[in-house]
Formats: sequence, structure tokens, C-alpha cells
Amino acid sequence: MAKKKQTLEDKLSVKVESSWLAVDKKTDKEIYDFADGYMDFISKAKTEREMVNSIVSAATKNGFKPIEKCKTLKPGDKVIITNMGKVAALAVIGKEPIEKGMKVVGSHIDSPRLDLKQKPLYEDTDSDLALFKTHYYGGIKKYQWVNVPLALHGVIVRADGKIIDVNIGEDPNDPVFVIGDLLPHLARKVQGERKLFEGITGEELRIIIGSRPSLDKDTKNKFKLNVLEILNKKYGIIEEDLISAELQAVPVSKCRDIGFDRSLIGGYGQDDRVCAYTSLMAICEIQKPSKTALALFFDKEEVGSVGATGAQGGFFEYALIEIMERLSPKFRFATLKKALSNSRALSADVDAGVDPMFKTVYELGNAAKLGGGIGICKFGGAGGKGGSNDANAEFLGEVRQLFNKNNIPWQYTELGKVDEGGGGTVARFLSEHNLQVIDVGPALISMHSPFEISSKADVYYTYRAFLEFHKAA
Ligand code: MN
Ligand code: MN
Repeated sequence: MAKKKQTLEDKLSVKVESSWLAVDKKTDKEIYDFADGYMDFISKAKTEREMVNSIVSAATKNGFKPIEKCKTLKPGDKVIITNMGKVAALAVIGKEPIEKGMKVVGSHIDSPRLDLKQKPLYEDTDSDLALFKTHYYGGIKKYQWVNVPLALHGVIVRADGKIIDVNIGEDPNDPVFVIGDLLPHLARKVQGERKLFEGITGEELRIIIGSRPSLDKDTKNKFKLNVLEILNKKYGIIEEDLISAELQAVPVSKCRDIGFDRSLIGGYGQDDRVCAYTSLMAICEIQKPSKTALALFFDKEEVGSVGATGAQGGFFEYALIEIMERLSPKFRFATLKKALSNSRALSADVDAGVDPMFKTVYELGNAAKLGGGIGICKFGGAGGKGGSNDANAEFLGEVRQLFNKNNIPWQYTELGKVDEGGGGTVARFLSEHNLQVIDVGPALISMHSPFEISSKADVYYTYRAFLEFHKAA
């Protein structure tokens, strides 16, 4: 960092400036190199299942082992715990006894998307098209998802129990799918008089999947049957198999550099794979920390952290039991509670970056800018901090000190003006385990859209922040 003379103002007031100003040549290269790895990773892993697979394979390359393969654990051991293929934990056992507390970074690996309905397939005989019906997942602005090339990811469980992996649309030779939108010439009344959020309704999110009729003479549903014939040939499935399927339509696009200076990243699912990736990279570097390091990768955050694979589920405690039983044959539940209450957690999730076109929703003195470094957010929620984990000042102080000591640019941020809206993260569910927890993470513009925007500097410093958090005593 370039040192210049401190003014009285520097000394006494909060300085908020672009983190790019203090970047030296070496760090500059590290920032761009780190972004390349990140962009490649999240361009390939677009669903929670794919993220769990990618996390497991990256961790395995870095010496982590499935916990089932470890009879006992000792300091320095690295383990992987997963559940239902949708939620994962990585741990590096610390030198101190676990009841002295752990360092936890919790992110989420699900992103807003369009799920296929369980009976998705139909044909529209007025347009001679075959379509899939969808039910959107997470908080989306529906009008953003039309005219976007979509890929289908997921699984189909056949009647014989066989699980078929589906990934179609990502390979340049694959076809893609799309939701059409009405031409402007005819849209003035039917859409123009609706409010923006209803410009496209949930039931209008229907994906075009074919337009050729079957040549079978016995059917009235020629367009639907043709798709079924193709699916039967490709996957060996019949229509009923789609009922036991989880198929997710996600944007086809890969991450791209944005801007003449290539300082920004555009891509789908950065909320919250940016924190999943950065925390993964950080924990993969940790060797024998003082306190046990834990990275949690939750599912279902976008629908309220519910279910067995969400942060409200039992996975966190279950993973700890798996670890603690292997650390000591005299494992007691009380020790687990003690370990939790002495722990510190970063709820790693994205925040809202100031949008230059809609500044009125932010209180600009407490809002994050892209490039301002990792954001620290004391509370979220809505309507007087409702439903929010409101972090303790003491822990905020610790985190601030840690980042300052390690030259990690950070900024204070909150999700919009008072009473403007709000949102939650996994923070409150982590805090229910009686540990210190605070929200941190990079800011995004266009959050929950098919093409979210982050800053390469923020992504890099988020990784550095997690690394220093685990390393600190
Ligand atoms: Mn999030
Ligand atoms: Mn989100």
C-alpha cells in the first residue's frame, strides 16, 4: 500500500475509497488471476448438487478426505461431510481442543432459478409448440428471465430407481431452451398496462422446448409426443419419470469480464457462489490452524434456509457430532454446545452494491460500492431489523480489527434504506447455535438476475478475509 502523510481528517473520520487505489502490481495480478479461477468454477457449477460435487473434488485435491474414511481425527486432519448431495462441510482440525471454539464460514450454494413443475410437459396447439411449465425458485424479477438462453440441470429418478443426471444446454453443441416474450408491436395493452413486476407472471414463465410433430398417426398430442420420444431415446424415460425429477433451468451464459478495465465480473449465480468459492479456496490453504476451521455450504437459502439441507436443518450439528466423535471417544453433547458457544462465524453472503440508476433505495452513507472491499453488515431483516441476526458490537470490533491488521479493504454496508425492503441470510440460523456471527461478503449489482455483477477486487479480498479469519488465533 502506498503511504502518504495522514491528515487530521484521515485520522479521525471513516475513509471510504475504492480498494483499487491501494493495489500494488503484485496484488493486481493476484486479483485478476483469482477472478479467472472463480469465473471458471462457477461457470461450470450452477446448481447446489453441482456445487457439492465441485467442492468435494477441489477439497479432495487439497488433501481433504470423506469423514467416513477417518476412524479418528487429530490436528491438521482435513475432512469432508456432505448430506443428500446438496449441502457440504469442510473442516480442518485445529491444534486447540474443539470446545475452545471454531472458526466457521457459512455460505449458500443455491441460487434463484426456474424449476420445472413435476408435470411440466404440454403442447400448445394454437402455436404448435411444446413447452415446459416452471415454478420459479427464490426471489426473482420474472421479466428478467425471458429471452435468455437456458440450460437444464438436474436429476430424473426413473421408475426402476435409476438416477439420470441431466445437463443440457451448456455444451456449445447442445440445444438451449428459452422463454419467449411478446413483440412490442402488440404488447402495449396486454403488458404495458401491467405493473413492471407482473410484466411476466409466474405461469407465463414457460419454456419453449420443441416445434416438430411426432409422425405417429395414433396421437392427438403430436408436439408433446415428439419431445417424449426424444427424451425416451436419450434418457430412457417416460413422462411419469419427470414427476420424480428435479430439473432446474438456469442461464446458459458463462462468466465474462465487464468493462474496458476488465475490473468487474458478470455471471449467473454469484449470489452466493462467490462466497462459497472464496471460502472454499481459503479453507483449502489452511494447515493446522489453532482453532478448527469449518466451511459450511448450505442449500435452500433463497427459500428461507428451510429443510434438511438448509441452514435451519440439522446438518451443522450433525457434522460437528461426526467430527467430535472422532476427536474423542468420550464425546459428550455438552462439549458440542460448549464448542459452539465459543465459536465465531462469518455468515458469508452478498450485499447490495449501489446501483447508479436507482440510488434512492440506498442510504448512501451506509451502502456498499463495487470495488470498496468486503462488506461488513451488522444486521439485515425488514421493518425494524425484524428477523435479523444483529451482530454484537464486540464481534464487529474483532472483525474490523482483523481486516485492518491484514490490510484487507472493507466497507460497512446495509441492505437498503430503513423500511425500503430487506432480506435475510444464514446468519440468524447460525446464531441460534449460540455463537458469535456477523454477515460479511462482497456487494453485487443486479442481484438475483440471470447476469449478476461483482468486482474482481471485492472477490479477491473476500477470499483474503476468510483466509485471515481462519489463520487468526
Ligand atoms: Mn445470498
Ligand atoms: Mn439471494
